[in-house]
Amino acid sequence: MAATFRGTTPEPPDVRPRLTVLSGPSGVGKSTVVAHMRKEHPEVWLSVSATTRRPRPGEKHGVHYFFVSDEEMDKLIANGELLEWAEFAGNRYGTPRTAVLEHLESGVPVLLEIDLQGARQVRESMSEAHSVFLAPPSWEELVRRLTGRGTEPPEVIERRLEAAKIELAAEPEFDATLVNTSVEDVARELLALMEVV
Ligand code: ADP
Ligand code: 5GP
Repeated sequence: MAATFRGTTPEPPDVRPRLTVLSGPSGVGKSTVVAHMRKEHPEVWLSVSATTRRPRPGEKHGVHYFFVSDEEMDKLIANGELLEWAEFAGNRYGTPRTAVLEHLESGVPVLLEIDLQGARQVRESMSEAHSVFLAPPSWEELVRRLTGRGTEPPEVIERRLEAAKIELAAEPEFDATLVNTSVEDVARELLALMEVV
């Protein structure tokens, strides 16, 4: 006899892979964690954002960001080519829409590493999105990491720390929080949340 299903109609299996949004204050370690995770799990696709910020030493166009002019960013926005965009500490950043949708359609887990304003927009427009907040072990450690990275002048660090206060206050909006004490631990926890492992 065939097994009888008791209860409500089962949900159809969720065949679409996860769209995960990773946010957290500048300097908390988002890029470090994601780079570590993708070394072992290159099947996770990280969206490459467009930005009007200047490249840091070692950053490559098309790999870390698409570095665009203000005029190019204006066009991307006007043509609806961005899934979300935001101004952060004096520069604009946005997620190219088509690449994200194509990867999800072809069954690839997608990760967006974007700021709070962008995370809010994606939550509104993509109901399947799962949002993860990366928190520092303490405020002092965040300041130490951001300053220690040595990539921004003091006035830019100040702007980013001002933004960090707002971002930290928004932590309860997220589906999950990971505290970046150990890069290895957080990378493993993030993979589990993405349902990759
Ligand atoms: P974000 O991408 O969030 O702005 P980064 O990945 O650039 O941050 O990290 C900022 C700084 O903190 C870098 O110098 C990085 O090496 C350091 N860092 C990242 N994670 C940790 C950690 N778990 N412990 C100590 N330092 C860390
Ligand atoms: P950074 O200049 O340090 O690379 O990034 C600054 C902030 O912009 C970080 O919080 C980063 O997550 C965010 N960011 C990067 N790309 C995007 C994007 O496409 N959209 C949004 N909204 N934020 C982004």
